Amino acid sequence: MERLLQEPSVSVLLESTPRSVVVAAAREAVARARKGRGGVPENWGAEIAERAKRMARRSLRPVLNATGVVLHTNLGRAPLAASALDAVAAVASGYSALEFDLEAGTRGQRTDHGRRLLAELTGAEDALAVNNAASALILALNTVAEGLEVVVSRGELVEIGGSFRIPDILRKSGARLREVGTTNRTHLDDYIRALGPATGAILKVHQSNFVQSGFVHAPHAVDLARLAHDHRVPLVHDVGSGLLSDLSSFGLNSEPRVADAVADGADLVVFSGDKLLGGPQTGCLVGSAALLGRCRANPLARASRADKMTLAALEATLELYRDPAVALREIPVLRMLTLSAGELEQRARALAAAIAAACPAAPPPRLAAGHSVTGGGSFPGADLPTTLVVLDPGPRGADALALTLRLGDVPVVARVEDRMVVLDPRTLPVHAFPDVAAAVAAACAE
Ligand SMILES: *Cc1c(COP(=O)(O)O)cnc(C)c1O
Repeated sequence: MERLLQEPSVSVLLESTPRSVVVAAAREAVARARKGRGGVPENWGAEIAERAKRMARRSLRPVLNATGVVLHTNLGRAPLAASALDAVAAVASGYSALEFDLEAGTRGQRTDHGRRLLAELTGAEDALAVNNAASALILALNTVAEGLEVVVSRGELVEIGGSFRIPDILRKSGARLREVGTTNRTHLDDYIRALGPATGAILKVHQSNFVQSGFVHAPHAVDLARLAHDHRVPLVHDVGSGLLSDLSSFGLNSEPRVADAVADGADLVVFSGDKLLGGPQTGCLVGSAALLGRCRANPLARASRADKMTLAALEATLELYRDPAVALREIPVLRMLTLSAGELEQRARALAAAIAAACPAAPPPRLAAGHSVTGGGSFPGADLPTTLVVLDPGPRGADALALTLRLGDVPVVARVEDRMVVLDPRTLPVHAFPDVAAAVAAACAE
């Protein structure tokens, strides 16, 4: 090993790469050569340099999302607005008034950040932001119904993905599940029959990631709220995606708006910060001041508290909603969802032209009509027409080309459809088109 590290082609690596990384890469290369399958490398320097480069890479790296899935949970859900990024940098690069009352010069409340804005934008009395919606729901149910029954429709015992299932969350909160109705139809009478002295709350959950049609029925939230209040128990409404804007003029109207859930009478409304709200990963709770006071005092609120970077990004994102037009323009998720067909076609043309110019030897990309997806369990049935850029992978096949694109210096995550690699410009920032073209060119050159 010492001799290997002294080889000029290897020792030169030590000028730019930490010794520990070069040593680990050299060990890997030697182990591989001993196994004998690839034989002894002709050029140890190149072999070790390649391995060292891979080892020195961060695992959490930015990627270019060419899938057209706007809220891609595996790719980090919502990209943040510019002002949210500025707020994070400002708060995280120094000290902040995280838990400090500047007027009094004494301890303040972390839970106050974003509180007024959340209440103002949703019409609720009070608000609280914690780590994510899953923890917000556990906190809400534990606060109002620990040791008691929570009445839920069988049609709403849903799995959101990533091991989030309503029955499991509910049990972990210390409440008992009282299922009512059937998968497709639940009536107010079903709820009425289940209510009793052991009831702690009624829970309504938005069917985020699927659509039921045909012979289906569920009582309206207004009627559930009235019923809950007649029985002196709260209605907890998990609306999922945290839609604050009115997107109905863009044909997107199947998601509940948070303000509507509040107006319909829910005592606690739960939603995510990084889905349609377009902010950082958080779980927001809005609703009755009395119940939110109890939530804030619950030790689980401490266990699921949000960090300062999150709170800074949330507050800055919420500020943009004070003017609905600003929100649509500045919040990337809303901007991507509301791109017009004409704009998408224009972008697809520009992307295809950049790729064609970058790899002149390959057949130029085709354009094709296609569909984007909202993702993140929102607007599951929504039709989001787009123009796709279609790459013919040639003899190596689409999966191999898609893999090469993912493993490049700037990873590009594309879709494979009908044995072609397709790129959806909806989720690609225009300023990243040259990077996408370079990645395709590098893949073509291989
Ligand atoms: C996404 C979702 C959740 C979970 O939200 P996280 O912020 O990912 O924890 C909970 N409930 C519903 C209805 C959802 O759609």
